[in-house]
Formats: sequence, structure tokens, C-alpha cells
Amino acid sequence: MATLKSEDERLHALKQLRLLDTPPAESFDRITRMASQLFDLPIAAISLTDSDRQWFKSRVGVDHWTIPRDRAPCAEVADTSGSLVIPDLMEHPSYRGSLLARSGIRFYAGAPLTTREGFCLGAMCVLGPEPRQVSQQEQAVLIDLAAMVMAQVELQHAFGRVDAITGLPNRHQLLEDLHDQAATGNGGLRHLALVEVMDALKMSDALRVLGVGVIEDLMREATRVISSNLGLSTQVYHVGAAQFAWIVPSFHGEAMFEDRLGNLAGTLHNHLSSAPVRIALNPVIGVAPLAVGQHLAEDAIRMAHNAAQEARLTGHSVSTYSMVADDHHRRRFRLLSDMRTALVSGQELSLVYQPRIALSTGDCIGAEALLRWQHPELGAVSPGEFIPLVEQTDLAGPLTAWVMAEAIRQIVAWRNMAIDLAISVNVSVANLDQSEFATDLIGQLRKAGIRPSAFEIEVTESALIKNRMHVEEQLRAIRSAGIRVAIDDFGTGYSSLSYLRHLPADLVKIDQSFVRDLADDPKGQTLVRHLIEMSRGLGFRVVAEGVEDGQAYEILRAWQCEEAQGYWMSPPLAPADLQHWLTTRVSSRNEAA
Ligand code: C2E
Ligand code: MG
Ligand code: MG
Repeated sequence: MATLKSEDERLHALKQLRLLDTPPAESFDRITRMASQLFDLPIAAISLTDSDRQWFKSRVGVDHWTIPRDRAPCAEVADTSGSLVIPDLMEHPSYRGSLLARSGIRFYAGAPLTTREGFCLGAMCVLGPEPRQVSQQEQAVLIDLAAMVMAQVELQHAFGRVDAITGLPNRHQLLEDLHDQAATGNGGLRHLALVEVMDALKMSDALRVLGVGVIEDLMREATRVISSNLGLSTQVYHVGAAQFAWIVPSFHGEAMFEDRLGNLAGTLHNHLSSAPVRIALNPVIGVAPLAVGQHLAEDAIRMAHNAAQEARLTGHSVSTYSMVADDHHRRRFRLLSDMRTALVSGQELSLVYQPRIALSTGDCIGAEALLRWQHPELGAVSPGEFIPLVEQTDLAGPLTAWVMAEAIRQIVAWRNMAIDLAISVNVSVANLDQSEFATDLIGQLRKAGIRPSAFEIEVTESALIKNRMHVEEQLRAIRSAGIRVAIDDFGTGYSSLSYLRHLPADLVKIDQSFVRDLADDPKGQTLVRHLIEMSRGLGFRVVAEGVEDGQAYEILRAWQCEEAQGYWMSPPLAPADLQHWLTTRVSSRNEAA
């Protein structure tokens, strides 16, 4: 008989393997079937010895999953760690009155299931209704089968199924468990919850700045918080770098459930953000229905992940999967992957140019280059849709590089036709994050023989505010080379008044939302007039975007706004159309004069 201490350790080892009360698995059932066939006996089982019961991980020929540990032969195998053969239970003083004997079993043979560390978990056993003998060869076979079971246990537990950092079962294990549950048809509607502790961008930043060790500590801490919040009965899986998932067995009212998850997200946020490494984390949780047997397991993980992304995009901490949002994701994913090819061939991309008019003279003095994408199947895709996606990926650099090169090529072509326009190009903040951006741009202009003052870059106000430090340095370098910098969508980014004084820019482009309905909007008028006055007072040149009618044009001119851009003068035009527009405009103005 094992000592008390070692029985505790044995039970702990058994629990660590997370085998008890798990669904049946084909990998174990295969061995049990083989045992029954080799011994030509109706009953075989992989029987694990828990504190007060024998629990069958796999069984053939019995209907129940568990019998009491008391007077179970398998329990003796676990206690002694040795094989046990009982040719006739009715003849055995201890087992004559056992549950097995009473239910008609006469023969038992069991071989110990022993871990590498020497803990015996239970027995691989075969049973029959008649008394029987066991040959030495058969004993050896049973021991071999027990070894196969243990090989499977170890394989399942360690090999590629456990995360080395957190010790939690990983994505492969979750997939396998979901498959096993689907196979048994166990349970009806369940849910899969997935928490993303930090998004991929933040993760890669954190890895770069803080190093792997700190992130690993953070993931272990996240494991502790999640496991203790969910309780021992919930198995948590570590399914991605900063992602954890678990199966939610039943739903007690959706609202309450979401509240609980919201609390978990909040606890994680507070706990991890107060850790010694102060990373501002924003954990989000996605929930996907898991109608067991209907969805592929991979699909369930994907849907929960999408729901988590949806939560992130919409600024919530918890989101439940919806098909509409999923369609959205598929489209976004497709746009991003197709943009990658479009940038290589360049064939689907083009630039259009929207004239900028000096309000004091009415002359066209420049144009803004705007990207167009004609997708072969989806048709024209608006930059309003694909730019925000691209900006979050490594395509931001190649996209701006394509736009820059194309704009420079066009400026040179126009110069050869004696068309001299200052061209502005939109750049995203991800571009300015690249340390070589300013030098590259300056070098390209110099190579093409373009005066820096004929080129301008536009950065949105909101991007600037979010990433002040990185960006300002680049903007300073760009401006000191004589290239002008414009703050785009000005007025929508809520820069503080004190920040405005130091805005690293030459001009501001008042956002079209303030300008579009200017003539009919007295409050808007007050706002725009003050924006113009203030910006001019601070030394910025002022451009109004979205001028859609003659009244707005006249109002802006009266208020000494310097430039205007909008449909009233011209929509964005293909280069040849712009050339045509310029000629007809000059001749009609000459006629008028
Ligand atoms: P944006 O830079 O503020 O560009 C002005 C947008 O307003 C353009 O939309 C233009 O077509 C539209 N617009 C011009 N006049 C009027 C008007 O009178 N009324 C109204 N309602 N709209 C007017 P578009 O071309 O769809 O571009 C949308 C946004 O996409 C741009 O806003 C810019 O932020 C971004 N974008 C476009 N091309 C590029 C690019 O090459 N690179 C980057 N990073 N962003 C780009
Ligand atoms: Mg712009
Ligand atoms: Mg704008």
C-alpha cells in the first residue's frame, strides 16, 4: 500500500494530466478495442484511479463510466503498481463480494499504467464472465498495451499540445477536444470564448521594446488571472501568442454572461496594467456559438477570434460573433491580400488629382493626388475603405512608396508639358514611423529634379496627435528640406490649443465636414471663421476642403481663407482630364475677363 503522501502526489500527477472526465477519444478507444480482441474477452477498459472512484477513459463492453474505488481490482493495481490477474473473482477472498463479482464478472487481468515519474494512474484491464487463465505471453501483451496507453497519454500531454510558457493546453489540444466533443454529440449549444490580451501590433512593439522574458511573465500572469476568475472546473487553453480560450458549457441569460466576461476583461486590464511592466493593455473577448457537431472546430476558433476583433474595432470589451461582422472580416481580409498583389503589378492602381484653387486670384495652383483602386472583381474600392486597413499592416510602406513614385513620375511628365502644379500626397503615420522616410523622399525629389516647394505631404490631425514623438522628428526634417507639410482633416482630431502652437506644419486643411453645408449652417460658419482666423494668426496657410457650392466659395474668400478644394471647382480627375480642365478653365476665364 502506498503511503499517504505518495497517494496525494499520485492524485496530483493524475489531475495534472487532465484526463479525468474528458470525452472519449479515438486514440484510446483503439487500444481498448485491440485488448478486447486479443484476449477474446467482451470487456476491456482504461481505468484511472481517482480518490474514490475508478473512471474509465475508454471502455468496451460496459455501459458506465465509473465504479467505486472500494474493492475494485484496478485500485489494487494502482496501489501496488504491479500487474494483477484474478482467474476467478468468486474464488478470491477480497473480490468475492465486490461490485464486479456481483454483476457477473469472473475473470480480471490488469497491467499498471505508470508514468515516467513512477506514478501509477490505474490499469489497462480485460474482464470476462468466465473463469480464465492467463499465459505469460498474454501478460506481456497486456503490459505492452498499457505502455501504449501511457505513450498516448504522454504524447497528448506534452508533445505539441501544451504551451511551454503557460503550461496550458494549446490550440491543437483545443481543436482535438472540440473534435472529440463533436464526435460524442455531447451537449447541445455551447459557446467558445476567446480573450485577446493585447493586439498583434502592440505585441510586436512590446516584444521589441521589452523583450521576450517580460512578455512571457505577462502571459503567465494572464493565465493566473483568467484561471482563477473562471474557476477550476473550466479548462483554459493558450491558443495564440496573447490569446486564451475556453468552452462555455451553458448560457444563463446572454446579458449576464456578457457582464461576467466584461468583468473578466476589466480584471485582466487592471491586473496586468498594474504589473511592474506598465503596458497599457486592452483585453477584448470574443464569443462564438459552438453548436457541437455542426461547426468545424477551426471555424469556431476563427469566429471567436473575429468577434474579439470586432470588439476591438467597436471599442467594446466583449463581442458576440455575428455573421454580418464576419462577412465584413472576410472582405477586409480579401482587400488586404489582394492589395498586396495590386501593389506588385500596379495595374489596378492609379492616381487622380483634385485641383486646389487660390481664392484671392481663382488660379489653380496645385492638386491633391488621391489613390484609386479598380479591383478586377469587386470594382472600384474607395480609399476610405482600404486605406485604414492598409495603415494597420506592413503594406503601409509599399503603398505610400507606390503613390510617391507615381506622383513624382506625373510631376515630371507635366513639367515637360509646361504644367507647373504643386502636388500634395497623403501619407499615413506608419510611414513617418520609418526612420528613413524623410531622407528617402528628399532623395527621390532631388533625383527627379523637382523643387521641394512643388511638393507637399498631408498627414491627418488625428494620426499626428496619437503618435507625436515619432512623427515630429520626421516632419521637421521634411520641412527643413523645403517640402511643405499640411495637416489634413483639420478640426476633427481635437488637438489641444497649446499643441496647435507647436504643430509641425505649414498649412492646415479644414475638414470637409465643416465646409460642405457652410451656407446653411450659422453655427458652422462661426466655427469655420474662427478656425481660419486662429490658424492664420498662428502662421498657417489655410485650405478649405469640400467646397460644394458657390456660396461656400464666396464666404471662404471673404474670410480670407487662402485656398479651396471641392466638387464646386472640380472633382478629382485623371491626369489627361485635369490637363483638359486646366485649358478650358484658362480660356473661359480669359473670355470672362
Ligand atoms: P482626404 O485626403 O481628406 O481627401 C479628400 C477626400 O474628399 C477625397 O476622397 C476627395 O475625393 C473628397 N472630396 C473632394 N472634394 C469634395 C467635396 O466637395 N465634397 C465631398 N463630400 N468630398 C470631396 P477620397 O479620394 O475618397 O479619399 C478619401 C481619403 O482617403 C482621403 O481623404 C485620404 O485620407 C485617403 N487617401 C486617398 N488617397 C490616399 C493615398 O494615396 N494615401 C493615403 N495614405 N491616403 C489616401
Ligand atoms: Mg488629403
Ligand atoms: Mg481631408
